[in-house]
Formats: sequence, structure tokens, C-alpha cells
Amino acid sequence: MRDFGAWGIGWILLVFCFAIALTPIEPVAPVTSTVPVELPQEESVPVVAITFDDGPRKSTTTKLLDALALREVPATFFLVGNRISGQEELIQRMHQEGHQIGIHTYDHVILRDLSQDEFEAQIQKSRDLLKSIMPDEEFWLRPPYGILDRQMAAWTDSPIILWSVDPEDWKDDNVSRIVQTVLEEVEDGDIILMHDLYASSVDAAIQVVDALLEQGYCFLTVEELLEYRGITPENGVRYREA
Ligand SMILES: [Zn+2]
Repeated sequence: MRDFGAWGIGWILLVFCFAIALTPIEPVAPVTSTVPVELPQEESVPVVAITFDDGPRKSTTTKLLDALALREVPATFFLVGNRISGQEELIQRMHQEGHQIGIHTYDHVILRDLSQDEFEAQIQKSRDLLKSIMPDEEFWLRPPYGILDRQMAAWTDSPIILWSVDPEDWKDDNVSRIVQTVLEEVEDGDIILMHDLYASSVDAAIQVVDALLEQGYCFLTVEELLEYRGITPENGVRYREA
């Protein structure tokens, strides 16, 4: 479970986002009133989750965290296990600033090729490292390349998070192409895939965040996005959007 601090940030954010769309609340009407009650139009606030794979990397991830903190935008990071050691402070910072953290395997492997023992070791080694930093948290899985067969989904003891918008930001360092691809494709409830390993991806992500904030989008972690849509996350189930 997430700790109180992280939840606090999440709820503050939700309240902040909704406040933009809501009209001021009228004083409570007497019970005899025939004026229909106007429900808050919460669903009119477009929401999106931005996610980052393959990190952490000290230089680029720090720059991204600085930019997200400045804008009070939460993100979700799926970390590669063999990159965790030595970056404990950076990961602690992610956690303290309200970001969700998940597992992207220990060695960034294609899970389809593994036995059950190998598959579970890839998850467990990463989870043990993360638990040593955040003992009370749970860590959801994003399989590298989104590749995971039905059998492996059944072995997975967490929700499986895929994506619905992929600008292929690893392909080149063309920031404007990456930004434009996301902005053309993004819709309410999407999960955006990016990578915090590359300086160009981080620059693009910051521009995407600014553009979507300007358009009235509210950023949520993946966990918050599912909760906002009333979806109860289940182990072994793949989620691409909400
Ligand atoms: Zn990856």
C-alpha cells in the first residue's frame, strides 16, 4: 500500500484538478427545495498518466524529477532492477514526491523466453531492491517491449501495465517529432510510454506535460488513474488505458 504522504499528494492533486472544472458549491438547499441538484462534472476533466521506462539514470531522471516537481505533476516510473543499486536516494526522492514506482524486470529481458523460475527471479530481485528502499510499497509490472504471454500473466503477482500512446522516443532524438506524436494521439484516460534514459526524451516529456496542462489535462499516476475510473487493479490483468 502507498503511504499517507503519497496518497496525500494524490488526493491534493485530484482536488486541485477538479477544482478547475467545478462551479462553486451553493449553500445547502432546504429539503423542500424543488431545484435539481447539480452534480460535480468530475468526468469532464481529462486525465492522463505519463510513464517512464528503463531508468533510473542519475542525470536525466534528476532533470525530469525537477521539472515534474516544479509543475506538481506525478508520473509512474518502471525501473530496471540492475540500475537500482547506487540510485537509492534518487528513487527515494521519486517516492517522496508522489510518483508511482514499478518493475521493468531486473535485466530488461524479453520475458517470453524465460522459464517460470527465471521469470520470477527477474521480478523478485527487482522487488527486493525496491522493498529495501520503500518497505511498505507494492510494485506493479511493466514487461519490456510489452511482451508477456498468457501463461506469464498468470504467474504475475501484480497488475500488468502496458500503454496506449507510444511516441517511440528511443528511436531518435527529434524532440519536436516526439512531442507532436504524443499530442496528436493522446486522449482522455491514456497511458503514455516514454523513457527517462535519454536527454531528448526528458526534454520532450517536459514539453508534453506543459502542453497537456495547457489543454486542461490532469496528470495522475497509473494507480490513481485506475482508481479515478473506478477500476480495481487485479493481479495478472493487463491495463493499457483507463
Ligand atoms: Zn524498456
